[in-house]
Amino acid sequence: MKTPNHFVYLIIFLLPISGFAQEVINSELTVNSERIEKRIFELAEFGRNEKGEGQRVAYSKGDVEGRQYFISLMEKAGLQVSIDAAGNIIGKRAGRDASKKPIAFGSHIDMVPDGGNYDGTLGSITALEVIEVLNENGIITEHPLEVLIFQNEEGGLVGSRAMTGNLKEEALDQRSASGLSIREGIKAIGGDPDRLAEAVRKPGDLSAFLEIHIEQSKVLESQGIDVAIVEGIVGIEDWDITVTGMANHAGSTPMNDRQDALIAASKLVLAVNEVVNSFEGAQVGSVGKMKVEPGAPNVIPGKVEMSLQMRDLSTEKIMQMFDNIEIKAKDIEAETGTQIAFKHLNLSTTPILASKEIQDKMAQAADALGISHIRMQSGAGHDVQEMGRLCPIGLVFIPSKDGISHNPKEYSSPEQMAKGANVILHTVLLLDKN
Ligand SMILES: [Zn+2]
Repeated sequence: MKTPNHFVYLIIFLLPISGFAQEVINSELTVNSERIEKRIFELAEFGRNEKGEGQRVAYSKGDVEGRQYFISLMEKAGLQVSIDAAGNIIGKRAGRDASKKPIAFGSHIDMVPDGGNYDGTLGSITALEVIEVLNENGIITEHPLEVLIFQNEEGGLVGSRAMTGNLKEEALDQRSASGLSIREGIKAIGGDPDRLAEAVRKPGDLSAFLEIHIEQSKVLESQGIDVAIVEGIVGIEDWDITVTGMANHAGSTPMNDRQDALIAASKLVLAVNEVVNSFEGAQVGSVGKMKVEPGAPNVIPGKVEMSLQMRDLSTEKIMQMFDNIEIKAKDIEAETGTQIAFKHLNLSTTPILASKEIQDKMAQAADALGISHIRMQSGAGHDVQEMGRLCPIGLVFIPSKDGISHNPKEYSSPEQMAKGANVILHTVLLLDKN
């Protein structure tokens, strides 16, 4: 009966240590902000034209050469690099436990025409930086790690859609900004459009996917906050609205005898704004397009066609807002003697939520490192939302100067980038303890 006693002591001794170790974040372990910025500038040289504009659109010469440069950096960092059939760049680093599913992170290096140097590249360079820091500190994670550089994000999440099996066959014939079709582009970057099925990953194939991106709006900058932990990428719902009144002579029809479709449409625009503002949260709603008929100075508008688009993390909330807009539309119809018809368009994008657990780990990492943070929803799409079909996801935003993106004026300081990158680094390490 003596041996069990030793076991008990051993267990009592070990429990607090292992329990404690899970919570420890080594704040000395940090990314190299100078190296991150140096690589941002180096990558910016690829696809620059004689006017100095960044034209590294997917499949262009600059994109192909930029990818080659990035692959060489990944190989130097010891990653086992391959190109999947869709042309995505995959860099693998083995973990101690090959039975665990990889923790993945990355972004894209293609840009919009005359784009900036930070959108996508920050996430790609940060992913590589995480590997560099682990190498320099001799850290081998339990999980295998994967750096994922998705091709043609700006052309509609092409690479990440291919990875989730969500790239439609007809999309392959669409022309990309480079002039090549997507199909030709995939060949140009070393993929094989006839074997796309081989690039598809299944739900559960990855433990997690993390991305860091510039914010693309001014919330962080104006509030002086270091990073945003993103709660999800909003869903989008669209409607076409037709307002029908009666066209009539603008001179001889008295003001009290008109069925002015534009008056009704104008009231409806204001009603949309009122309803969207009356809900708690960060939802948005806009009327962005309007066509007035017949469209002559001397005719009372008889018909208006307009758009309605609403975005939020909750589709239910979007539909509640729509119900309220419809109620207001009934009042406007009665008041103006017009008819208002709504047509829900078949373009829905469902909201993708970030994993609560990953959000909490990001907050834990940021707190331990003295990095201020808020939670935010993303109004713009990113590769991470596609990856949300496969595994739990996490997304970090850092401030972008003046909220500018898709523009050569994009800028984030090395300190701002490093703070976000440190949150990613330590979130990877926290996830690795699971
Ligand atoms: Zn991007």
